[in-house]
Amino acid sequence: MAQADIALIGLAVMGQNLILNMNDHGFVVCAFNRTVSKVDDFLANEAKGTKVVGAQSLKEMVSKLKKPRRIVLLVKAGQAVDDFIEKLVPLLDTGDIIIDGGNSEYRDTTRRCRDLKAKGILFVGSGVSGGEEGARYGPSLMPGGNKEAWPHIKTIFQGIAAKVGTGEPCCDWVGEEGAGHFVKMVHNGIEYGDMQLICEAYHLMKDILGMEHDEMAQAFEEWNKTELDSFLIEITANILKFRDSDGAHLLPKIRDSAGQKGTGKWTAISALEYGMPVTLIGEVPLHDEPSGLVVWILIVFLGKIKDAFDRNSELENLLLDDFFKSAVENCQESWRRAVSTGVQAGIPMPCFTTALSFYDGYRHEMLPANLIQAQRDYFGAHTYELLAKPGEFIHTNWTGHG
Ligand code: NAP
Repeated sequence: MAQADIALIGLAVMGQNLILNMNDHGFVVCAFNRTVSKVDDFLANEAKGTKVVGAQSLKEMVSKLKKPRRIVLLVKAGQAVDDFIEKLVPLLDTGDIIIDGGNSEYRDTTRRCRDLKAKGILFVGSGVSGGEEGARYGPSLMPGGNKEAWPHIKTIFQGIAAKVGTGEPCCDWVGEEGAGHFVKMVHNGIEYGDMQLICEAYHLMKDILGMEHDEMAQAFEEWNKTELDSFLIEITANILKFRDSDGAHLLPKIRDSAGQKGTGKWTAISALEYGMPVTLIGEVPLHDEPSGLVVWILIVFLGKIKDAFDRNSELENLLLDDFFKSAVENCQESWRRAVSTGVQAGIPMPCFTTALSFYDGYRHEMLPANLIQAQRDYFGAHTYELLAKPGEFIHTNWTGHG
């Protein structure tokens, strides 16, 4: 008998927590997992006493859903998503909805969206941010895909999402096809950039200023009371002062190697493809899915970004907004001093330096790319434009030969 509002496939950390979140908000969720024994485990433990129901097969799961059926996939990105879609399609009716909440590559989402549209199934690719904690108590959600699905999932999505300010949900329709996963990808890239900047400050404080871990923790705590107030600054203070069971600080014992799952790398690749300079993100060592979320990480800062776009929805660059312009101008002298001190001392600060180069490049009326165009024209007759004659492409015989 149809009883569940929505189904969720994938009972790992994200899926379990999202189910419990939906349950808290009054939705009946049907849980399923490839390894079916995990369904019973979940119902008997984490979901005990809730309204969550389980299914032993996809067929049973589908039979328990109200129509149009809503099915969330929170499984490993890649083949697992395609495999589940393939198994689900014969069990579904026109107008049913499949939502992929994993970290899928946005082009995969676009492909799935088109394929499923042709079969009458509405597909949504949604970024889910906030890690375990966010999934449980309020993720930031970035749904995109087939917009016909939105009215059917909006209440659930906006209900379970994190809320800011006066209760505005951190969730709205992002756009067509792979847009939701594209936004999630860029969001992860920004987050990685933020983390690397903090790491470089830590390096500078430790190796140039010779600060002890507790002292650094104190500095981060102080920063967290300023406009830098953010989740990442807060947790960095906690990490810096954390002591291991032997009483020594834990952080220096951790291996300085970071793994990766994909989204940071994809951001850099997409930026190259779209010809957008995201040099800062490109400098970040690639690592795993961050467990925080931008919406929490930058909650105060994000408000300022929103204000800037509220003032001017066509704003080309945040550096052109008065608030950001003066904020960067006010700190640029110390920024330059920090970078030059690090460079002189041989401390690698790729994000600090590339951000400064971007800032300086953006403010220059004329950059030396004129020489690149001349070189390209010299060796490949690629032509160039004269400042005085825009739109007119000229070739010069630089050697006088031929
Ligand atoms: P995960 O470790 O990425 O994936 C585990 C889940 O995927 C399990 O349910 C597993 O089923 C299933 N699975 C793996 N390979 C499969 C296959 N070949 N066929 C069918 N099912 C397969 O779990 P997660 O960390 O909870 O993440 C879920 C999704 O959310 C991922 O796309 C992840 O990138 C994304 N995400 C994660 C976070 C985070 O902080 N962890 C944050 C945002 C988004 P079995 O139990 O049968 O192995």
